[in-house]
Amino acid sequence: LSQLFRPLDLLGMVYRTIRQGVIDMAAMFDLIDTPSEVIDAPGAPALTVTQGHVRFEDVRFGYDDDRAILKGITIDIPAGHTVAVVGPSGAGKSTLARLMYRFYDLTGGRITIDGQDIARVTQASLRAAVGIVPQDTVLFNDTIGYNIAYGREGATEAEIVAAARGAAIADFIERQPDGYETRVGERGLKLSGGEKQRVAIARTLVKNPPILILDEATSALDSRTEAEIQATLERIEQGRTTIVIAHRLSTVVAADEIIVLDAGRIVERGTHADLLRQAGLYAEMWNRQAQERAEQTLAAE
Ligand code: ADP
Ligand code: MG
Repeated sequence: LSQLFRPLDLLGMVYRTIRQGVIDMAAMFDLIDTPSEVIDAPGAPALTVTQGHVRFEDVRFGYDDDRAILKGITIDIPAGHTVAVVGPSGAGKSTLARLMYRFYDLTGGRITIDGQDIARVTQASLRAAVGIVPQDTVLFNDTIGYNIAYGREGATEAEIVAAARGAAIADFIERQPDGYETRVGERGLKLSGGEKQRVAIARTLVKNPPILILDEATSALDSRTEAEIQATLERIEQGRTTIVIAHRLSTVVAADEIIVLDAGRIVERGTHADLLRQAGLYAEMWNRQAQERAEQTLAAE
């Protein structure tokens, strides 16, 4: 029953979702699974983002006491910089994103934004400052406008349209007979993976967070759609502190720093050129993916 005591925004969302007749049960269970042990410290102040300088200081974490997932992660992301996190599946990349959003508390170290420990500010203020574009976007069985506006309560119509433009989905929406009132999801218009991803990006643009996390935001897409969305993502990274978690390394070449995570530890770090010179795990991943790209090109001919 303690599962029911959730942050109010989550309850509100679940309530609205139920009221609208949810069909996407998997998505709802995902939400309900969101851990509840994180609470605001008594009298916690709101986070004040002045620059957007993010630091992970010797961050340690495990979902269970007997298994460490992150084993001392230190990353410094100056305001406005982009840091990429790459590495094999299960390395702990998405866990880093969840910790940044404070879905869980750390077992050691701290994460700060402009010098403020994120565990000591209100969760609401933290979550307003951080936007995540996840790998699999959950759409509500509602209108496409609602799905975009969900990024921030009280978004105006003009803001929704501007965000849709920014995410390169406005033309598609305006071609629908009902425009922004078009219902999407199980009972409405089915969106492709690329279209859903654009809705997620529009949602994030409405939110306009100073800190952005892209968790394999394009991994589910075919390479042509990915290339289109990549350009949009690069544009929205401008002026924000960004963490890009990526499987396809072609999307992280321009990052200020690339962190290679393996089994909860940073095993390599540097720019793309540095890492190729090191001829380690990153270079091996890069060469393998380059070979795959070459094979795909040949197969397509
Ligand atoms: P990545 O994103 O690099 O693929 P994750 O951060 O998702 O890796 O997962 C790191 C490790 O933590 C994996 O071994 C995974 O099985 C485990 N893990 C992820 N989420 C949970 C969870 N909610 N409870 C327990 N273990 C988890
Ligand atoms: Mg992941």
